[in-house]
Amino acid sequence: MTISHWLDTAEDDPTPREPLDGSRDVDVVIVGAGFTGLWTAREVLRRDPSRSVLLCEANTAGFGASGRNGAWLSAGIAVSPPELVRRTSPAIARDTILAMRDTVDAVIDACHTDGIDAQVRTGGMLRIARGPQELPAMRAGYDEFAALDLADDIHLLSAPETADRVRVHGALGALYDPHATAVHPGRLVRGLARAVETAGATIVEHTPVTQVLPASPGSRARVVTPTGQVTADAVIVACEAWVSQLPDRRRDVLPLYSLIVLTEPIEDEVWEQIGWEGHELLSSHRYTVDYLSRTVDGRVLFGGRGAPYHFGSRIDPSYDQHRVTHDLLRDQLRTWFPALAGVGFASAWGGPLAMPRDWMPTFHLDPATRIGGAYGYTGQGVGTSNLAGRVLADLIIDGSTPFQDLPMVGHRARRWEPEPLRWLGARYLQRSLARLDARTARTGTPASSRSLAERLLRH
Ligand SMILES: Cc1cc2nc3c(=O)[nH]c(=O)nc-3n(C[C@H](O)[C@H](O)[C@H](O)COP(=O)(O)OP(=O)(O)OC[C@H]3O[C@@H](n4cnc5c(N)ncnc54)[C@H](O)[C@@H]3O)c2cc1C
Repeated sequence: MTISHWLDTAEDDPTPREPLDGSRDVDVVIVGAGFTGLWTAREVLRRDPSRSVLLCEANTAGFGASGRNGAWLSAGIAVSPPELVRRTSPAIARDTILAMRDTVDAVIDACHTDGIDAQVRTGGMLRIARGPQELPAMRAGYDEFAALDLADDIHLLSAPETADRVRVHGALGALYDPHATAVHPGRLVRGLARAVETAGATIVEHTPVTQVLPASPGSRARVVTPTGQVTADAVIVACEAWVSQLPDRRRDVLPLYSLIVLTEPIEDEVWEQIGWEGHELLSSHRYTVDYLSRTVDGRVLFGGRGAPYHFGSRIDPSYDQHRVTHDLLRDQLRTWFPALAGVGFASAWGGPLAMPRDWMPTFHLDPATRIGGAYGYTGQGVGTSNLAGRVLADLIIDGSTPFQDLPMVGHRARRWEPEPLRWLGARYLQRSLARLDARTARTGTPASSRSLAERLLRH
């Protein structure tokens, strides 16, 4: 079983790099070679090419969510604009959204600079109202940006305007946001790995970090692996869902599985019925989260978050496949596009993402312990990881960052509940939200926002 279509088509030599062999002493050691680790390495070396940077990767570069995702490079973070305002201020909420918009451009620029052909398709995104029950959420999405004076290039599209772009069954309108781009994540992550090596970083693969030890007076921070230790001036933890598998960190983030199905290439006549020439990223306003993208080679990717949370925050390769959820995704895709009723599916995969207790990602470096990291993107890390890499490079090199006021910088979410509460809570939410989506779709009536599940989920 391969990990994902993206890694299969990354056009990069998959031969694993050598593992760590013996002990090393470097300036920066990074745990995990996904987008976060690689952007951090890139930005450190761009700022100071003389630094020694080593990435320890448990598997191979891109093995995690970075090599498996839904191809959305977007300006979104999991915390909504009103909640950002509530937790910070209108000015900081605005700065955060603007920084994320710049980040989409920063990733595209980096692809040009580093010669990475990530099949960038800048079509923006459409959040489609697939029935009357979704119209209030669609309009609220616009109002949230307008309240911060950030809606100049965001548009509410009518049903015919939406159909001019893409013909989705039952679409009554859409919220169009240009700050989003489809990418080939496999090419991006594997290309980045080559680029940071060219810039001077070393990546060791099949080298799982088993302990992260803080600096103390007289000793530097270090990481322990089965084949050697690495001491460093800064240790950066960049392993997203797998943060929860490190010693004493089980409750830092909740690993949740997102799953994906991908069609075979679609015939031109069928594409003519669907439209979608602009390669916009698509989603609806459902609580259970769906995301679609159109690949450069004419397939449709459909992803969603229905797979169950596993007791004890377990992560296991077998969880990448969940027949019930994958079948559901195939069925749902056919409801979006009845023209795809007869289409074949080429592959199905999935992977864990990391959800912090308060939905806010963290970018931090403790000046005393010299341990830092960035994680907790809740399925929105393709763009955010680039901003994280730039912030971490600032903190490593200067000890401060111009992004200091952004709510993720220096943030530490409170820990998740111990088991069995975590399992009970996660499963309750997953079931309640699925039921809520089914009921609102059936009745055409929007959710009340008053149910316990909705209140618990407010972010
Ligand atoms: C199915 C799916 C769809 C998604 N879709 C989108 C999307 O469309 N848009 C979006 O913005 N985000 C999406 N996300 C989230 C996004 O992919 C992630 O937020 C992002 O890739 C995180 O990058 P990362 O480098 O922090 O973590 P990862 O890419 O998960 O990398 C972590 C790395 O750490 C390694 N590792 C783990 N433990 C250790 C250890 N002990 N020692 C050494 N190495 C270790 C892993 O092998 C892995 O390679 C999706 C996630 C999933 C799972």
